[in-house]
Amino acid sequence: MACCLEHIELALDIAVDEYEIAPIMKKIEEPVSCEFCQNPALYVVGN
Ligand SMILES: [Zn+2]
Repeated sequence: MACCLEHIELALDIAVDEYEIAPIMKKIEEPVSCEFCQNPALYVVGN
């Protein structure tokens, strides 16, 4: 999931809950919006 700097901790928490492993955090390449607000996303969290 894509998220801005402000919501990175929230995204990491959700990812840990969902996947039950340490999520991978990558810097985003394309311009997309944060999933939790209107800001441009800086990171993508997943596994
Ligand atoms: Zn955000």
